[in-house]
Amino acid sequence: MTDVDELVRRNADFVAEEFPTGLSLSINPTGNMMVVGCVDPRVDPSYILGLKRGEAAVIRNVGGRITPATLRTMKMLRKVGQANPDGKADRPWNLVILHHTDCGMTDLAPFDDLLAEYFEVSTAELAAKSVSDPYGSVRVDVDIIHGEIRRPDFLVSGLVYDVSSGTVEVVVPPTAVPKA
Ligand SMILES: [Zn+2]
Repeated sequence: MTDVDELVRRNADFVAEEFPTGLSLSINPTGNMMVVGCVDPRVDPSYILGLKRGEAAVIRNVGGRITPATLRTMKMLRKVGQANPDGKADRPWNLVILHHTDCGMTDLAPFDDLLAEYFEVSTAELAAKSVSDPYGSVRVDVDIIHGEIRRPDFLVSGLVYDVSSGTVEVVVPPTAVPKA
């Protein structure tokens, strides 16, 4: 079991060995990138996509889903970015939606009420959320972004990570969201 004392020890190593190199990091992701992924410990985007420190903002929730709560978080982060123009790169934004095989969402399929609350939809609308199929759910969530975000400098993609092989598949290639 990993305990807090262990974490504090590791932090001391981090301060001694790595922290000075990160001092110049901006609050804005250096890769102009945001990743939305699942909380599953097997699918940490930093590891499986090789993200460097400061490169991407990462939002993790159950399933890596674009829910109303995810959209609210993104809206708040946009305000934070606007409040901190230093270090912002004048390049398109990449939003990567990362779902995966063998997701715990599948175990939640029988719990209609819980899922309806999570997605803020009626139980009758849950079938459209594709909770048992990651290849379907990334498409569903990319479509939500296309409907919600009106920025020509915003690219959204849908990836599925296979937990049995470690391979990521680009199911929806980066596409620009429609203009307002
Ligand atoms: Zn998952």
